[in-house]
Amino acid sequence: MSTKHNAFAMAQAQFDEVSARLKLEPAIHELLRWPMHEIAVRLPVKMDDGSTRIFQAFRVKHNTSRGPAKGGIRWHPDETIDTVRALATWMTWKTAVVDIPLGGGKGGVICNPKELSETEKERLARAYIRVIGPTLGVTKDVPAPDVYTNPQIMAWMMDEYEVIMGERHPGVITGKPIPVGGSQGRGDATARGGIFVVREAGKVLGIDLKNKTMAIQGFGNAGQFAATLGSEMLGLKLIAASDSRGGVYSEKGIDVKALVNHKLSTGGLADFPGTKAISNEDLLELDVTVLFPSALENSINADNAKNVKAKIICELANGPTTPEADEILFKNNVFVIPDFLANAGGVTVSYFEQVQNSYNFYWPCDEVHKRLDEKMTTAFHAVYDLYVKHKVKMRMAAYMVSVMRVAEACKLRGWV
Ligand code: NAD
Repeated sequence: MSTKHNAFAMAQAQFDEVSARLKLEPAIHELLRWPMHEIAVRLPVKMDDGSTRIFQAFRVKHNTSRGPAKGGIRWHPDETIDTVRALATWMTWKTAVVDIPLGGGKGGVICNPKELSETEKERLARAYIRVIGPTLGVTKDVPAPDVYTNPQIMAWMMDEYEVIMGERHPGVITGKPIPVGGSQGRGDATARGGIFVVREAGKVLGIDLKNKTMAIQGFGNAGQFAATLGSEMLGLKLIAASDSRGGVYSEKGIDVKALVNHKLSTGGLADFPGTKAISNEDLLELDVTVLFPSALENSINADNAKNVKAKIICELANGPTTPEADEILFKNNVFVIPDFLANAGGVTVSYFEQVQNSYNFYWPCDEVHKRLDEKMTTAFHAVYDLYVKHKVKMRMAAYMVSVMRVAEACKLRGWV
């Protein structure tokens, strides 16, 4: 199986490398290489025109030794069981690296949300919960938003679950709107967590980030907040951003707020005043201090990695760098903050949301930010210490931290 186009083969290849380095026993190696539980279902949904469409959907639990499964639900036309397996696996490592008491899960529906009306989306969300719901719950598996799903979809899903159960269960799903049990600070948590670890990377690498440059591939939820917070919190200057329709570039710097508003009003980035068009490929090769890949998998690969000039890559997207590209970046001294550390802010605040739901007591935003900073900073330094000690890639160091923690929990439970 080629690792180039298969995210799960890539997740397994990364795990095999760390397993060999940690000399894991064969049984624990085999256990952690595959998800423990997978569901594939077909969902009939009534469309607005009276027809019925059938959607293929998945939910995967990779490992629950450290706690209930946790992971988003993606709605994407190119979704596959292997993408969901890979992302569930990365969730296990992600919850372990930030040391929260949860396991790894992920869900997906093959669909193009851009072609669905709001009422069709609501029926699809409810159909997913009617079938997958019995396997969910705060002690089993807790979904959240991911690519092309949002707080409104989470609210419909929670509501459907509560109708089925006949009682309130706000903690069954996170990333909800605040009036129905969401947490302050969840909206920008992934990007904010990424900015905290970039700040720490700047410190250990001796780079003063103020007035240095950044580029963002994928100007969606994570990417837009990274641009805003990167400029507000670290003084980084945005010089390029792109989305699925293409990108914009200005070496003088781009006004982030105005670009966010431009995307809101036009639906894209094209023709933003004072910028030139730039392709997604060229954006990745710009000479910037910080590059935020914030779109989909495999964007930095064996073909373009040698041309990447960024000093720091903060992988807000899941799986944006292939293993071949990782080697090239390491040799070229590009400091890569790996996805499951860089984008762990989202799941960390999701965990805070679950905790607040359980207590039925809600924290102010400052409290959420402070606790997130503590978790991300502690996680960054746990990984960085191993990176220095073992002279390995940051990704390997992060895997070593996570896999050791998960393997220990499996052993303590007597699973292996
Ligand atoms: P999103 O749908 O809000 O944004 C994705 C953006 O990527 C969109 O602007 C889209 O136009 C753009 N895009 C798609 N294909 C592209 C391409 N080929 N080149 C450039 N841009 C392209 O999704 P999001 O929530 O921001 O998630 C982005 C990534 O971050 C995903 O990999 C996701 O798994 C990861 N992530 C997100 C969160 C979160 O809380 N939002 C948490 C953890 C990880």
